[in-house]
Amino acid sequence: MQLHVADHPLIAHKLTVLRKAQTDSPTFRDLVDELVTLLAYEATRDVVVEDVEITTPITTTIGTHIASPRPLVVPILRAGLGMLDGMTRLLPTAEVGFLGMQRDEETLEAVTYANRLPQDLAGRQCFLVDPMLATGGTLVAAIEYLLGLGARDVTAVCIIAAPEGLEKVRAAIGERADVKIVVAAVDERLNEQSYIVPGLGDAGDRLYGVVD
Ligand code: URA
Repeated sequence: MQLHVADHPLIAHKLTVLRKAQTDSPTFRDLVDELVTLLAYEATRDVVVEDVEITTPITTTIGTHIASPRPLVVPILRAGLGMLDGMTRLLPTAEVGFLGMQRDEETLEAVTYANRLPQDLAGRQCFLVDPMLATGGTLVAAIEYLLGLGARDVTAVCIIAAPEGLEKVRAAIGERADVKIVVAAVDERLNEQSYIVPGLGDAGDRLYGVVD
């Protein structure tokens, strides 16, 4: 697993406003969208491209376009939905799949409750989006699932990661080069309720409101 922590003053500034408890939902959604666009720039650095001949008003030349098969963007429901538009703005030709995952409170294992993905991902570059990499259980399950369907590589784009979650992904995935995690920040730790500290609270609730 490769880890990339995006180190940029604009990202640090936007993340600081995002963390503030008094930031309202519309502003929070806008900031997530802007942050994802900046993170997507890093996350797509290794996207596969191919040469294409084009004609400019002056001459013909060889340009570059994103190769087939098209990349796949996979938001993990619910909070990952807040990152979808930012990703597809930068990757407009990408296909979108959906994974709904939550923790079974008895077994503590990640359980898939919604799955709308192509069943053959051979050769596909996949971009998982989920704002908070907390315990890492969901992300490990999602990465292993996509690799099991034949994905060529998997890049997880998260806003904040906890060291415990990164360690869990590293322990499960090892040092393989086809799994990358791009984050805006690595925070201090998880608290007793598995919230990231200092974090930003419950990302889904802050994006979409509290659901009982
Ligand atoms: N999920 C969140 O939304 N926030 C956290 O801090 C941890 C998990």
